[in-house]
Amino acid sequence: MPQAKQRYKVIIRCKNCGEKYILRGRYNEDGGLDTGFKRCVCGNEANFDEDVSLEE
Ligand SMILES: [Zn+2]
Repeated sequence: MPQAKQRYKVIIRCKNCGEKYILRGRYNEDGGLDTGFKRCVCGNEANFDEDVSLEE
């Protein structure tokens, strides 16, 4: 499964305050994307726009 090792660039934008985070992550065995991101500085933990693209 080569895809499992592929890294992705993830841009997360908070819908509450507009803060933007650029992270790198990869998909775990459950199909979820691991980025280490927990919450925005404004306390928002769930309301985000996520833009995932392959890292070059
Ligand atoms: Zn925020």
